Amino acid sequence: MPERQEVVRGCTGWRWGAWLLAALLLSVAPALSASPLQGRDYLLFGHATDQQAPVRACTPEMRERLQERIEIPPPAGGWSGAPQALEVFNAFHGEVMIHQGERTVCGHAQDARTRDSRFRAGTGMVAVPPAGSMAPIEVSWERPLKPGWIPVLRLGAPSPVQQRDTARLLVRTSCLAVALALALSAVMGFLSTRSRDFLFYALVCLLMMLWQAVFSGLSGYPRPWLPIGNAAPQWLVAMSALAYAALVWLMWWICGGWRRFPALRTGLRWLSALLLGIALLAPWLPFAALSVVAVWLDHGFAVACLLSFAVGVWLLRRRDYNAMDGIIALLPLLAMVLADWLHAEWLVRYRIEVIQLAVSWFLIISAFSLNRSLDLLRRQRDEMRQLADTDMLTGLPNRRAGLRQLERHMQQSRKDAQPLAIGFLDIDLFKQINDRFGHDVGDEVLVSVANALLGAVRSRDDVIRMGGEEFLILLPGAGADTALPRLEQLRDRVGRQALELRHDGLVITASIGLAEMQPDDDMAALLRRADNAMYRAKRGGRNRVVDARTEPDVI
Ligand code: GH3
Ligand code: MG
Ligand code: MG
Repeated sequence: MPERQEVVRGCTGWRWGAWLLAALLLSVAPALSASPLQGRDYLLFGHATDQQAPVRACTPEMRERLQERIEIPPPAGGWSGAPQALEVFNAFHGEVMIHQGERTVCGHAQDARTRDSRFRAGTGMVAVPPAGSMAPIEVSWERPLKPGWIPVLRLGAPSPVQQRDTARLLVRTSCLAVALALALSAVMGFLSTRSRDFLFYALVCLLMMLWQAVFSGLSGYPRPWLPIGNAAPQWLVAMSALAYAALVWLMWWICGGWRRFPALRTGLRWLSALLLGIALLAPWLPFAALSVVAVWLDHGFAVACLLSFAVGVWLLRRRDYNAMDGIIALLPLLAMVLADWLHAEWLVRYRIEVIQLAVSWFLIISAFSLNRSLDLLRRQRDEMRQLADTDMLTGLPNRRAGLRQLERHMQQSRKDAQPLAIGFLDIDLFKQINDRFGHDVGDEVLVSVANALLGAVRSRDDVIRMGGEEFLILLPGAGADTALPRLEQLRDRVGRQALELRHDGLVITASIGLAEMQPDDDMAALLRRADNAMYRAKRGGRNRVVDARTEPDVI
Protein backbone atom coordinates (compact mmCIF):
# COMPACT_ATOMS: atom_id res chain seq x y z
CA MET A 1 0.00 0.00 0.00
CA PRO A 2 2.55 2.63 -1.07
CA GLU A 3 0.01 5.46 -1.28
CA ARG A 4 -1.00 4.98 2.29
CA GLN A 5 2.65 5.02 3.39
CA GLU A 6 3.08 8.34 1.58
CA VAL A 7 0.20 9.78 3.57
CA VAL A 8 1.57 8.46 6.85
CA ARG A 9 4.99 9.96 6.08
CA GLY A 10 3.42 13.28 5.24
CA CYS A 11 1.53 13.17 8.52
CA THR A 12 4.70 12.47 10.48
CA GLY A 13 6.30 15.53 8.91
CA TRP A 14 3.34 17.66 9.85
CA ARG A 15 3.27 16.23 13.33
CA TRP A 16 6.91 17.21 13.79
CA GLY A 17 6.10 20.64 12.46
CA ALA A 18 3.20 20.95 14.89
CA TRP A 19 5.42 19.96 17.83
CA LEU A 20 8.03 22.50 16.81
CA LEU A 21 5.40 25.20 16.49
CA ALA A 22 3.96 24.33 19.88
CA ALA A 23 7.43 24.46 21.48
CA LEU A 24 8.08 27.80 19.82
CA LEU A 25 4.78 29.24 21.01
CA LEU A 26 5.39 27.98 24.54
CA SER A 27 8.86 29.52 24.61
CA VAL A 28 7.62 32.94 23.50
CA ALA A 29 4.41 32.84 25.53
CA PRO A 30 5.87 34.63 28.61
CA ALA A 31 7.26 37.37 26.38
CA LEU A 32 3.87 37.74 24.74
CA SER A 33 2.00 37.96 28.02
CA ALA A 34 4.24 40.67 29.53
CA SER A 35 3.42 43.91 27.73
CA PRO A 36 5.83 46.63 28.87
CA LEU A 37 4.59 48.96 26.16
CA GLN A 38 1.06 49.23 27.51
CA GLY A 39 0.22 52.86 28.22
CA ARG A 40 3.69 54.11 27.14
CA ASP A 41 4.65 56.13 24.12
CA TYR A 42 8.39 55.38 24.11
CA LEU A 43 10.74 52.63 25.13
CA LEU A 44 14.24 53.24 26.48
CA PHE A 45 16.83 50.48 26.45
CA GLY A 46 20.22 50.21 28.13
CA HIS A 47 21.72 52.40 30.83
CA ALA A 48 24.15 55.25 31.27
CA THR A 49 27.80 54.22 30.93
CA ASP A 50 31.04 55.28 32.51
CA GLN A 51 33.13 53.56 29.80
CA GLN A 52 35.78 55.71 28.18
CA ALA A 53 37.04 55.29 24.61
CA PRO A 54 39.16 53.42 23.55
CA VAL A 55 37.05 50.50 24.66
CA ARG A 56 39.86 48.00 24.52
CA ALA A 57 43.50 48.26 25.38
CA CYS A 58 46.12 46.48 23.32
CA THR A 59 47.78 44.13 25.80
CA PRO A 60 51.45 43.13 25.57
CA GLU A 61 50.43 39.50 24.76
CA MET A 62 48.49 40.77 21.80
CA ARG A 63 51.35 42.88 20.57
CA GLU A 64 53.67 39.90 20.87
CA ARG A 65 51.75 37.98 18.25
CA LEU A 66 51.91 40.75 15.67
CA GLN A 67 54.75 39.74 13.40
CA GLU A 68 53.89 41.65 10.24
CA ARG A 69 54.11 45.42 10.22
CA ILE A 70 53.89 48.26 7.71
CA GLU A 71 53.91 52.03 7.86
CA ILE A 72 51.65 54.21 5.73
CA PRO A 73 53.46 57.52 5.35
CA PRO A 74 51.55 60.80 5.13
CA PRO A 75 51.33 62.57 1.76
CA ALA A 76 54.21 64.88 0.84
CA GLY A 77 53.88 67.92 3.07
CA GLY A 78 52.23 66.01 5.90
CA TRP A 79 48.61 65.16 6.83
CA SER A 80 46.00 67.75 5.87
CA GLY A 81 44.26 67.75 9.25
CA ALA A 82 41.20 65.90 7.88
CA PRO A 83 40.11 62.65 9.56
CA GLN A 84 41.68 59.53 8.09
CA ALA A 85 39.89 56.19 8.24
CA LEU A 86 41.90 53.04 7.83
CA GLU A 87 40.37 49.59 7.82
CA VAL A 88 42.11 46.24 7.61
CA PHE A 89 40.09 43.44 5.95
CA ASN A 90 40.82 39.78 5.39
CA ALA A 91 43.06 39.27 8.40
CA PHE A 92 41.66 35.76 8.68
CA HIS A 93 42.88 35.01 12.13
CA GLY A 94 44.20 36.82 15.13
CA GLU A 95 44.93 40.39 16.07
CA VAL A 96 45.30 43.53 14.03
CA MET A 97 46.73 46.73 15.49
CA ILE A 98 46.46 50.21 13.99
CA HIS A 99 48.45 53.05 15.48
CA GLN A 100 48.68 56.72 14.57
CA GLY A 101 50.09 59.43 16.78
CA GLU A 102 48.48 59.03 20.17
CA ARG A 103 45.81 56.56 19.08
CA THR A 104 46.09 52.79 18.97
CA VAL A 105 43.34 50.32 18.13
CA CYS A 106 43.52 46.56 18.39
CA GLY A 107 41.01 44.04 17.13
CA HIS A 108 40.61 40.33 16.92
CA ALA A 109 39.14 38.95 13.68
CA GLN A 110 36.84 36.53 15.51
CA ASP A 111 35.77 38.79 18.36
CA ALA A 112 33.63 41.78 17.42
CA ARG A 113 33.75 43.05 21.02
CA THR A 114 37.38 43.99 20.47
CA ARG A 115 36.70 46.08 17.39
CA ASP A 116 35.45 49.58 16.73
CA SER A 117 31.75 49.12 16.04
CA ARG A 118 31.87 51.59 13.15
CA PHE A 119 34.02 49.04 11.29
CA ARG A 120 32.18 45.76 11.22
CA ALA A 121 33.84 43.70 8.50
CA GLY A 122 37.40 44.42 9.56
CA THR A 123 39.44 46.25 12.16
CA GLY A 124 39.47 49.99 11.63
CA MET A 125 40.35 53.32 13.13
CA VAL A 126 39.55 56.95 12.44
CA ALA A 127 42.55 59.13 13.22
CA VAL A 128 42.73 62.91 13.03
CA PRO A 129 46.43 63.68 12.56
CA PRO A 130 47.20 67.38 13.08
CA ALA A 131 47.77 69.37 9.87
CA GLY A 132 51.37 69.04 8.74
CA SER A 133 52.08 66.09 11.04
CA MET A 134 54.45 63.52 9.54
CA ALA A 135 53.64 60.63 11.92
CA PRO A 136 52.79 57.57 9.81
CA ILE A 137 49.90 55.18 10.35
CA GLU A 138 51.36 51.93 11.58
CA VAL A 139 49.54 48.66 10.98
CA SER A 140 50.57 45.26 12.34
CA TRP A 141 48.95 41.85 12.12
CA GLU A 142 49.67 38.20 12.70
CA ARG A 143 51.48 36.08 10.12
CA PRO A 144 48.91 34.91 7.50
CA LEU A 145 48.12 31.22 7.47
CA LYS A 146 48.44 30.95 3.71
CA PRO A 147 50.83 32.93 1.49
CA GLY A 148 48.15 34.44 -0.76
CA TRP A 149 45.73 35.29 2.02
CA ILE A 150 47.14 38.71 2.74
CA PRO A 151 45.27 41.46 4.59
CA VAL A 152 43.72 44.26 2.56
CA LEU A 153 43.97 47.85 3.82
CA ARG A 154 41.61 50.62 2.81
CA LEU A 155 42.50 54.24 3.55
CA GLY A 156 40.12 57.13 2.98
CA ALA A 157 37.55 59.47 4.43
CA PRO A 158 35.54 57.85 7.25
CA SER A 159 32.20 57.83 5.48
CA PRO A 160 33.04 55.91 2.26
CA VAL A 161 35.29 53.51 4.16
CA GLN A 162 32.48 52.74 6.60
CA GLN A 163 29.90 52.38 3.83
CA ARG A 164 32.04 49.82 1.99
CA ASP A 165 32.58 48.07 5.29
CA THR A 166 28.80 47.83 5.86
CA ALA A 167 28.29 46.53 2.31
CA ARG A 168 30.83 43.78 2.98
CA LEU A 169 29.13 42.86 6.22
CA LEU A 170 25.75 42.66 4.45
CA VAL A 171 27.13 40.30 1.82
CA ARG A 172 28.71 38.12 4.50
CA THR A 173 25.58 37.89 6.66
CA SER A 174 23.33 37.33 3.62
CA CYS A 175 25.45 34.37 2.55
CA LEU A 176 25.23 32.95 6.04
CA ALA A 177 21.46 33.43 5.98
CA VAL A 178 21.24 31.70 2.59
CA ALA A 179 23.07 28.64 3.94
CA LEU A 180 20.82 28.57 7.01
CA ALA A 181 17.64 28.97 4.94
CA LEU A 182 18.71 26.19 2.59
CA ALA A 183 19.49 23.94 5.56
CA LEU A 184 16.06 24.59 7.07
CA SER A 185 14.24 23.99 3.82
CA ALA A 186 16.21 20.74 3.36
CA VAL A 187 15.14 19.65 6.86
CA MET A 188 11.52 20.31 5.82
CA GLY A 189 12.19 18.31 2.66
CA PHE A 190 13.51 15.46 4.77
CA LEU A 191 10.51 15.55 7.11
CA SER A 192 8.05 15.35 4.25
CA THR A 193 9.88 12.85 2.01
CA ARG A 194 12.17 11.00 4.44
CA SER A 195 14.82 11.10 1.74
CA ARG A 196 18.22 10.97 3.41
CA ASP A 197 19.66 13.06 0.57
CA PHE A 198 17.86 16.03 2.08
CA LEU A 199 19.35 15.34 5.47
CA PHE A 200 22.85 15.10 4.04
CA TYR A 201 22.30 18.33 2.16
CA ALA A 202 21.03 20.07 5.32
CA LEU A 203 24.17 18.97 7.16
CA VAL A 204 26.37 20.26 4.35
CA CYS A 205 24.58 23.64 4.49
CA LEU A 206 25.04 23.88 8.25
CA LEU A 207 28.70 23.02 7.91
CA MET A 208 29.10 25.64 5.20
CA MET A 209 27.42 28.14 7.47
CA LEU A 210 29.85 27.44 10.31
CA TRP A 211 32.83 27.50 7.99
CA GLN A 212 31.79 30.86 6.58
CA ALA A 213 31.18 32.18 10.09
CA VAL A 214 34.73 31.23 11.10
CA PHE A 215 36.66 32.72 8.21
CA SER A 216 34.46 35.80 7.81
CA GLY A 217 34.69 36.63 11.50
CA LEU A 218 30.91 36.50 11.89
CA SER A 219 31.49 33.86 14.55
CA GLY A 220 32.40 36.85 16.72
CA TYR A 221 29.16 38.76 16.17
CA PRO A 222 27.87 40.35 18.33
CA ARG A 223 29.99 38.32 20.73
CA PRO A 224 31.85 35.07 20.00
CA TRP A 225 29.37 32.21 19.66
CA LEU A 226 32.03 29.63 18.77
CA PRO A 227 34.82 28.92 21.28
CA ILE A 228 37.57 30.12 18.95
CA GLY A 229 39.66 32.28 21.27
CA ASN A 230 43.25 32.35 20.07
CA ALA A 231 42.92 29.08 18.17
CA ALA A 232 41.64 30.71 14.96
CA PRO A 233 44.27 29.03 12.69
CA GLN A 234 43.32 25.62 14.07
CA TRP A 235 39.63 26.39 13.58
CA LEU A 236 40.25 27.63 10.05
CA VAL A 237 42.08 24.46 9.04
CA ALA A 238 39.65 22.10 10.78
CA MET A 239 36.57 23.80 9.36
CA SER A 240 38.11 24.00 5.89
CA ALA A 241 38.88 20.26 5.97
CA LEU A 242 35.31 19.46 7.04
CA ALA A 243 33.80 21.87 4.52
CA TYR A 244 35.91 20.48 1.69
CA ALA A 245 34.95 16.91 2.63
CA ALA A 246 31.26 17.85 2.34
CA LEU A 247 31.72 19.97 -0.78
CA VAL A 248 33.69 17.26 -2.59
CA TRP A 249 30.80 14.80 -2.14
CA LEU A 250 28.27 17.31 -3.32
CA MET A 251 30.42 18.36 -6.29
CA TRP A 252 31.03 14.80 -7.37
CA TRP A 253 27.34 14.03 -7.05
CA ILE A 254 26.02 17.12 -8.86
CA CYS A 255 28.47 16.70 -11.76
CA GLY A 256 27.37 13.12 -12.32
CA GLY A 257 30.62 11.40 -11.23
CA TRP A 258 28.70 9.63 -8.47
CA ARG A 259 26.36 8.00 -11.00
CA ARG A 260 28.91 7.43 -13.71
CA PHE A 261 31.87 6.10 -11.75
CA PRO A 262 30.50 4.02 -8.88
CA ALA A 263 33.89 2.36 -8.52
CA LEU A 264 35.36 5.66 -7.32
CA ARG A 265 32.99 5.91 -4.38
CA THR A 266 35.38 4.01 -2.14
CA GLY A 267 38.13 6.49 -3.05
CA LEU A 268 35.81 9.33 -2.12
CA ARG A 269 35.12 7.71 1.25
CA TRP A 270 38.85 7.46 1.90
CA LEU A 271 39.32 11.07 0.94
CA SER A 272 36.56 12.11 3.34
CA ALA A 273 38.12 10.02 6.09
CA LEU A 274 41.46 11.71 5.44
CA LEU A 275 39.88 15.17 5.61
CA LEU A 276 38.05 14.22 8.78
CA GLY A 277 41.37 13.05 10.24
CA ILE A 278 42.96 16.39 9.36
CA ALA A 279 40.06 18.22 11.02
CA LEU A 280 40.48 16.16 14.20
CA LEU A 281 44.23 16.59 14.20
CA ALA A 282 44.22 20.33 13.54
CA PRO A 283 43.88 21.44 17.20
CA TRP A 284 47.23 19.79 17.97
CA LEU A 285 49.21 21.03 15.00
CA PRO A 286 51.75 23.88 15.36
CA PHE A 287 51.30 26.96 13.22
CA ALA A 288 53.95 25.95 10.67
CA ALA A 289 52.29 22.57 10.08
CA LEU A 290 48.86 24.21 9.89
CA SER A 291 50.20 26.54 7.23
CA VAL A 292 51.38 23.63 5.08
CA VAL A 293 48.15 21.69 5.59
CA ALA A 294 46.06 24.75 4.70
CA VAL A 295 47.93 25.24 1.44
CA TRP A 296 47.59 21.57 0.49
CA LEU A 297 43.92 21.60 1.38
CA ASP A 298 43.43 24.46 -1.07
CA HIS A 299 45.36 22.65 -3.80
CA GLY A 300 43.32 19.51 -3.20
CA PHE A 301 40.09 21.43 -3.34
CA ALA A 302 41.14 23.10 -6.59
CA VAL A 303 41.90 19.70 -8.13
CA ALA A 304 38.55 18.33 -6.95
CA CYS A 305 36.78 21.33 -8.52
CA LEU A 306 38.58 20.87 -11.83
CA LEU A 307 38.02 17.13 -11.87
CA SER A 308 34.31 17.39 -11.11
CA PHE A 309 33.94 20.12 -13.71
CA ALA A 310 35.77 18.03 -16.32
CA VAL A 311 33.52 15.04 -15.59
CA GLY A 312 30.47 17.31 -15.90
CA VAL A 313 31.63 18.61 -19.30
CA TRP A 314 32.47 15.11 -20.49
CA LEU A 315 29.02 13.84 -19.48
CA LEU A 316 27.35 16.81 -21.13
CA ARG A 317 29.15 16.00 -24.36
CA ARG A 318 27.69 12.53 -24.04
CA ARG A 319 24.23 14.11 -23.85
CA ASP A 320 23.80 13.58 -20.12
CA TYR A 321 22.07 16.89 -19.55
CA ASN A 322 21.78 16.38 -15.79
CA ALA A 323 25.48 17.25 -15.60
CA MET A 324 24.57 20.80 -16.62
CA ASP A 325 23.60 21.62 -13.03
CA GLY A 326 27.06 20.67 -11.85
CA ILE A 327 28.77 22.79 -14.47
CA ILE A 328 26.65 25.83 -13.62
CA ALA A 329 27.10 25.28 -9.90
CA LEU A 330 30.86 24.96 -10.16
CA LEU A 331 31.58 27.90 -12.46
CA PRO A 332 32.07 30.54 -9.72
CA LEU A 333 34.16 28.17 -7.58
CA LEU A 334 36.28 27.36 -10.57
CA ALA A 335 36.69 31.03 -11.47
CA MET A 336 37.80 31.59 -7.89
CA VAL A 337 40.37 28.79 -8.07
CA LEU A 338 41.80 30.16 -11.33
CA ALA A 339 41.87 33.71 -9.95
CA ASP A 340 43.75 32.40 -6.94
CA TRP A 341 46.38 30.78 -9.16
CA LEU A 342 46.71 34.01 -11.14
CA HIS A 343 46.86 36.12 -7.95
CA ALA A 344 43.99 38.27 -9.28
CA GLU A 345 43.67 41.52 -7.37
CA TRP A 346 39.86 41.39 -7.12
CA LEU A 347 40.10 38.08 -5.34
CA VAL A 348 42.66 39.34 -2.86
CA ARG A 349 40.49 42.40 -2.15
CA TYR A 350 37.20 40.59 -1.72
CA ARG A 351 38.36 37.09 -0.83
CA ILE A 352 35.86 36.45 1.95
CA GLU A 353 32.90 37.76 -0.01
CA VAL A 354 33.93 35.91 -3.18
CA ILE A 355 34.29 32.59 -1.34
CA GLN A 356 30.95 33.08 0.39
CA LEU A 357 29.12 34.07 -2.80
CA ALA A 358 30.63 31.17 -4.77
CA VAL A 359 29.68 28.70 -2.03
CA SER A 360 26.16 30.14 -1.77
CA TRP A 361 25.70 29.84 -5.52
CA PHE A 362 26.92 26.27 -5.38
CA LEU A 363 24.52 25.43 -2.54
CA ILE A 364 21.56 27.05 -4.30
CA ILE A 365 22.12 25.18 -7.57
CA SER A 366 22.71 21.96 -5.61
CA ALA A 367 19.36 22.42 -3.86
CA PHE A 368 17.72 22.91 -7.22
CA SER A 369 19.41 19.83 -8.60
CA LEU A 370 18.57 17.74 -5.56
CA ASN A 371 14.90 18.71 -5.75
CA ARG A 372 14.84 18.00 -9.45
CA SER A 373 16.43 14.59 -9.15
CA LEU A 374 14.07 13.65 -6.32
CA ASP A 375 11.15 14.90 -8.39
CA LEU A 376 12.35 12.75 -11.27
CA LEU A 377 12.58 9.72 -8.99
CA ARG A 378 9.08 10.46 -7.67
CA ARG A 379 7.72 10.70 -11.20
CA GLN A 380 9.43 7.46 -12.21
CA ARG A 381 8.01 5.78 -9.13
CA ASP A 382 4.53 7.11 -9.94
CA GLU A 383 4.83 5.83 -13.49
CA MET A 384 5.93 2.42 -12.24
CA ARG A 385 3.04 2.38 -9.83
CA GLN A 386 0.67 3.40 -12.57
CA LEU A 387 2.01 0.60 -14.76
CA ALA A 388 1.72 -1.89 -11.94
CA ASP A 389 -1.89 -0.86 -11.34
CA THR A 390 -3.09 -0.71 -14.94
CA ASP A 391 -4.26 -3.40 -17.29
CA MET A 392 -2.24 -2.89 -20.44
CA LEU A 393 -4.92 -3.99 -22.91
CA THR A 394 -7.90 -1.95 -21.75
CA GLY A 395 -6.19 0.76 -19.70
CA LEU A 396 -8.51 -0.05 -16.79
CA PRO A 397 -7.28 -0.56 -13.23
CA ASN A 398 -6.22 -4.16 -12.76
CA ARG A 399 -7.33 -6.52 -10.01
CA ARG A 400 -4.75 -5.22 -7.50
CA ALA A 401 -5.71 -1.58 -7.93
CA GLY A 402 -9.40 -2.47 -8.24
CA LEU A 403 -9.54 -4.23 -4.91
CA ARG A 404 -7.88 -1.22 -3.31
CA GLN A 405 -10.51 1.02 -4.84
CA LEU A 406 -13.30 -1.28 -3.60
CA GLU A 407 -11.82 -1.22 -0.09
CA ARG A 408 -11.76 2.59 -0.20
CA HIS A 409 -15.39 2.74 -1.35
CA MET A 410 -16.46 0.33 1.38
CA GLN A 411 -14.79 2.43 4.06
CA GLN A 412 -16.26 5.64 2.70
CA SER A 413 -19.75 4.16 2.38
CA ARG A 414 -19.62 2.96 5.99
CA LYS A 415 -18.44 6.36 7.15
CA ASP A 416 -21.15 8.23 5.23
CA ALA A 417 -23.82 5.55 5.87
CA GLN A 418 -24.33 5.33 2.11
CA PRO A 419 -25.15 2.19 0.12
CA LEU A 420 -22.63 0.57 -2.20
CA ALA A 421 -23.45 -1.89 -4.98
CA ILE A 422 -21.08 -3.84 -7.19
CA GLY A 423 -21.61 -5.71 -10.43
CA PHE A 424 -19.47 -8.69 -11.40
CA LEU A 425 -19.54 -9.01 -15.19
CA ASP A 426 -18.33 -11.94 -17.26
CA ILE A 427 -18.53 -11.98 -21.06
CA ASP A 428 -20.51 -14.95 -22.24
CA LEU A 429 -18.86 -17.71 -24.24
CA PHE A 430 -15.82 -15.60 -24.81
CA LYS A 431 -13.70 -18.61 -25.57
CA GLN A 432 -15.92 -19.25 -28.59
CA ILE A 433 -15.36 -15.67 -29.78
CA ASN A 434 -11.63 -16.27 -29.58
CA ASP A 435 -11.88 -19.60 -31.30
CA ARG A 436 -14.10 -18.35 -34.10
CA PHE A 437 -12.76 -14.85 -34.78
CA GLY A 438 -9.23 -15.08 -33.48
CA HIS A 439 -7.46 -13.71 -30.43
CA ASP A 440 -7.14 -10.22 -31.93
CA VAL A 441 -10.87 -9.85 -32.30
CA GLY A 442 -11.20 -11.22 -28.75
CA ASP A 443 -8.93 -8.36 -27.62
CA GLU A 444 -11.00 -5.87 -29.59
CA VAL A 445 -14.13 -7.11 -27.84
CA LEU A 446 -12.48 -6.71 -24.44
CA VAL A 447 -11.46 -3.12 -25.24
CA SER A 448 -14.87 -2.17 -26.58
CA VAL A 449 -16.66 -3.73 -23.57
CA ALA A 450 -14.28 -1.84 -21.27
CA ASN A 451 -15.15 1.43 -23.02
CA ALA A 452 -18.85 0.70 -22.88
CA LEU A 453 -18.58 0.07 -19.13
CA LEU A 454 -16.58 3.25 -18.57
CA GLY A 455 -19.40 5.28 -20.05
CA ALA A 456 -21.68 4.16 -17.23
CA VAL A 457 -19.64 5.16 -14.19
CA ARG A 458 -18.61 8.46 -12.64
CA SER A 459 -14.94 7.69 -12.09
CA ARG A 460 -12.61 5.77 -14.40
CA ASP A 461 -11.37 3.90 -11.34
CA ASP A 462 -14.78 2.29 -10.82
CA VAL A 463 -14.51 -0.17 -13.72
CA ILE A 464 -11.91 -2.84 -13.10
CA ARG A 465 -10.62 -5.63 -15.25
CA MET A 466 -10.43 -8.47 -12.78
CA GLY A 467 -8.73 -10.77 -15.27
CA GLY A 468 -9.57 -12.55 -18.57
CA GLU A 469 -13.08 -11.48 -19.63
CA GLU A 470 -14.24 -10.54 -16.13
CA PHE A 471 -14.95 -6.98 -15.03
CA LEU A 472 -16.04 -5.42 -11.77
CA ILE A 473 -18.26 -2.34 -11.73
CA LEU A 474 -18.39 -0.25 -8.55
CA LEU A 475 -21.48 1.84 -7.92
CA PRO A 476 -20.89 3.94 -4.78
CA GLY A 477 -24.02 5.61 -3.44
CA ALA A 478 -26.32 3.09 -5.22
CA GLY A 479 -28.28 0.39 -3.42
CA ALA A 480 -29.26 -2.81 -5.21
CA ASP A 481 -32.58 -1.31 -6.34
CA THR A 482 -30.88 1.63 -8.05
CA ALA A 483 -28.03 -0.49 -9.36
CA LEU A 484 -30.23 -3.12 -11.01
CA PRO A 485 -31.62 -0.91 -13.84
CA ARG A 486 -28.16 0.61 -14.35
CA LEU A 487 -26.58 -2.81 -14.76
CA GLU A 488 -29.40 -3.86 -17.09
CA GLN A 489 -28.60 -0.82 -19.20
CA LEU A 490 -24.97 -1.79 -19.15
CA ARG A 491 -25.74 -5.32 -20.26
CA ASP A 492 -27.71 -3.84 -23.13
CA ARG A 493 -24.86 -1.52 -24.03
CA VAL A 494 -22.38 -4.43 -24.03
CA GLY A 495 -24.67 -6.28 -26.40
CA ARG A 496 -24.64 -3.33 -28.80
CA GLN A 497 -20.84 -3.34 -29.03
CA ALA A 498 -20.99 -6.20 -31.54
CA LEU A 499 -22.72 -3.87 -34.03
CA GLU A 500 -19.90 -1.36 -33.73
CA LEU A 501 -17.16 -3.92 -34.22
CA ARG A 502 -18.69 -5.10 -37.52
CA HIS A 503 -17.56 -8.71 -37.58
CA ASP A 504 -20.04 -10.99 -39.31
CA GLY A 505 -21.81 -13.20 -36.85
CA LEU A 506 -20.19 -11.66 -33.76
CA VAL A 507 -22.48 -11.65 -30.76
CA ILE A 508 -21.43 -10.16 -27.45
CA THR A 509 -23.43 -10.75 -24.31
CA ALA A 510 -22.53 -10.65 -20.65
CA SER A 511 -23.75 -12.13 -17.42
CA ILE A 512 -23.72 -9.84 -14.39
CA GLY A 513 -24.02 -10.61 -10.69
CA LEU A 514 -25.21 -7.75 -8.50
CA ALA A 515 -24.52 -7.48 -4.76
CA GLU A 516 -25.06 -4.69 -2.28
CA MET A 517 -22.74 -4.15 0.69
CA GLN A 518 -24.22 -5.32 4.00
CA PRO A 519 -23.24 -3.74 7.34
CA ASP A 520 -21.10 -6.71 8.42
CA ASP A 521 -19.60 -7.42 4.99
CA ASP A 522 -15.92 -7.63 4.40
CA MET A 523 -14.56 -7.29 0.87
CA ALA A 524 -14.27 -11.02 0.28
CA ALA A 525 -17.89 -11.67 1.33
CA LEU A 526 -19.23 -8.90 -0.90
CA LEU A 527 -17.23 -10.13 -3.90
CA ARG A 528 -18.24 -13.72 -3.23
CA ARG A 529 -21.95 -12.81 -3.30
CA ALA A 530 -21.55 -10.89 -6.57
CA ASP A 531 -19.55 -13.77 -8.08
CA ASN A 532 -22.15 -16.32 -7.03
CA ALA A 533 -24.92 -14.18 -8.49
CA MET A 534 -22.95 -14.00 -11.76
CA TYR A 535 -22.69 -17.80 -11.87
CA ARG A 536 -26.41 -18.06 -11.27
CA ALA A 537 -26.86 -15.76 -14.27
CA LYS A 538 -24.70 -18.17 -16.32
CA ARG A 539 -26.68 -21.13 -15.15
CA GLY A 540 -29.90 -19.31 -15.83
CA GLY A 541 -29.02 -19.04 -19.50
CA ARG A 542 -26.47 -16.12 -19.61
CA ASN A 543 -27.05 -12.56 -20.90
CA ARG A 544 -28.78 -11.40 -17.75
CA VAL A 545 -28.31 -9.58 -14.45
CA VAL A 546 -28.92 -11.52 -11.23
CA ASP A 547 -29.41 -9.76 -7.92
CA ALA A 548 -27.70 -11.64 -5.09
CA ARG A 549 -30.77 -11.04 -2.89
CA THR A 550 -33.21 -12.88 -5.14
CA GLU A 551 -32.25 -16.44 -4.25
CA PRO A 552 -30.23 -18.02 -1.49
CA ASP A 553 -26.53 -18.37 -2.42
CA VAL A 554 -25.64 -21.65 -4.08
CA ILE A 555 -21.98 -22.56 -4.22
P1 GH3 B 1 -18.68 -18.44 -19.97
O1 GH3 B 1 -19.83 -17.88 -20.70
O2 GH3 B 1 -19.04 -19.61 -19.12
O3 GH3 B 1 -17.96 -17.41 -19.19
O4 GH3 B 1 -17.69 -19.00 -21.04
P2 GH3 B 1 -16.35 -18.33 -21.50
O5 GH3 B 1 -15.89 -18.97 -22.75
O6 GH3 B 1 -16.46 -16.87 -21.53
O7 GH3 B 1 -15.39 -18.69 -20.31
P3 GH3 B 1 -14.02 -19.35 -20.22
O8 GH3 B 1 -13.47 -19.09 -18.84
O9 GH3 B 1 -14.10 -20.80 -20.63
O10 GH3 B 1 -13.10 -18.61 -21.27
C1 GH3 B 1 -12.49 -17.39 -21.04
C2 GH3 B 1 -11.54 -17.18 -22.18
O11 GH3 B 1 -11.04 -15.85 -22.19
C3 GH3 B 1 -10.35 -18.09 -22.13
C4 GH3 B 1 -9.17 -17.21 -22.48
O12 GH3 B 1 -8.44 -17.72 -23.57
C5 GH3 B 1 -9.80 -15.91 -22.88
N1 GH3 B 1 -9.01 -14.80 -22.53
C6 GH3 B 1 -8.56 -14.46 -21.29
N2 GH3 B 1 -7.85 -13.31 -21.37
C7 GH3 B 1 -7.86 -12.92 -22.67
C8 GH3 B 1 -7.31 -11.80 -23.36
O13 GH3 B 1 -6.65 -10.93 -22.78
N3 GH3 B 1 -7.54 -11.70 -24.68
C9 GH3 B 1 -8.27 -12.63 -25.36
N4 GH3 B 1 -8.44 -12.48 -26.64
N5 GH3 B 1 -8.77 -13.71 -24.72
C10 GH3 B 1 -8.59 -13.85 -23.42
MG1 MG C 1 -14.76 -16.09 -16.94
MG1 MG D 1 -16.99 -15.86 -19.84
